[in-house]
Amino acid sequence: MNIHEYQARNMLEKHNIKFPKGKVGSTPKEIYNIAKSFGGKVVVKAQIHSGGRGKAGGVKICNSAIEAKEFSKKIINTRLITNQTGPEGYLVEKMFVTEITDIKKELYLSLLIDPDSECPVFIASLHGGMDIEKTAESNQAHIFKMNCDPFLGIKPYKLKQFVAKLNLPGDDNSQIVSLINNIYKAFISNDCSLIEINPLVIDDKANLVPLDCKITIDDDALFRNKEILKLRDINQENTMETRAKDYDLAYVKLTGGNVGCMVNGAGLAMATMDITTKSGCYPANFLDVGGSTDKEKIKEAFRILVSDKEIKYILINLFAGIAKADLIAEGIVEANNELNNKLPIIVSMRGTNSESGFEILKNSNLNLHVANNLGDVSKLLLELEKTK
Ligand code: GDP
Ligand code: MN
Repeated sequence: MNIHEYQARNMLEKHNIKFPKGKVGSTPKEIYNIAKSFGGKVVVKAQIHSGGRGKAGGVKICNSAIEAKEFSKKIINTRLITNQTGPEGYLVEKMFVTEITDIKKELYLSLLIDPDSECPVFIASLHGGMDIEKTAESNQAHIFKMNCDPFLGIKPYKLKQFVAKLNLPGDDNSQIVSLINNIYKAFISNDCSLIEINPLVIDDKANLVPLDCKITIDDDALFRNKEILKLRDINQENTMETRAKDYDLAYVKLTGGNVGCMVNGAGLAMATMDITTKSGCYPANFLDVGGSTDKEKIKEAFRILVSDKEIKYILINLFAGIAKADLIAEGIVEANNELNNKLPIIVSMRGTNSESGFEILKNSNLNLHVANNLGDVSKLLLELEKTK
């Protein structure tokens, strides 16, 4: 689960991390009053669950409270599109106003769970700010990492080596050392999977100041973080992904694809996506209905797929183990009729009761294309693409 920048700041402030003074507002008048109370010169920032706001026009340095008000008037209640939001963008309902920091240098610092080393890892870059993605691609030598033992935490000797590489001004590295220790504490105590400070700047007084922060909370730990769960902002979530979560479906929308995939098991889902790509099409989503799926889940999954207007073909690839293929088939037919769907449906279905499952599909008015294996799936997709 993602949270807003202003909420992430609150969370880090509880762990003794200091930010420039700031306050959130939701109307131009509020933004004006906050800016005025800060002396007029402020940075005003759209609050959405996405980075890349600076480049998208969602962050502005304003020279007066009136300018802050005008800027917020232009942005509040619009959808801000960044390179991370997809074409629909996210609705801006709140803006954050902060004092301006005089930037001498922009760094990057984050802590995240690294699946390769299976531990929390700090990443720092000498070149932070809005072009961090470019640095990551072209300037690997300026990116440093430090793994943390999940049981022992940060080892002091490693931390010393890590911060030495950053070559910060001043005699000691006490500011960065305490920042890193505090980030680690916040990360562990809130069950985060990411804390990212970009930019972390050196200001005109050689102080280290975080100017932005992004926090992601591990969904699987939300059951024990009821207070954090209250920070959830459903308006910032892809509505289909939200719906899918309620039915315990693992659904991720992918941009640019035209094949709606319904699969069970993450491994099979990925193999299916590979086959789709190999045939020259591209999956429009990842959708894992789970091993012990039932009729209602299948119907909801089908509804989610059909509601995606980019989809031209539906590809169902299921292995009926605990779930029964005939019940799955009934779910597909019922949802298909309910939605009056005419899109071609490629089905590969194996396992328990698959024969009676196929009987049900064949006796329905589905625009059905039967695949006996993954190779068939690819061939059928190619044929459908040719005849379109
Ligand atoms: P993001 O683009 O969504 O990551 O939003 P940020 O909060 O990181 O802001 C984008 C950029 O605005 C930063 O990389 C900074 O270069 C700039 N910026 C943000 N706050 C300040 C500030 O207080 N002073 C100055 N000079 N620039 C700022
Ligand atoms: Mn940023």
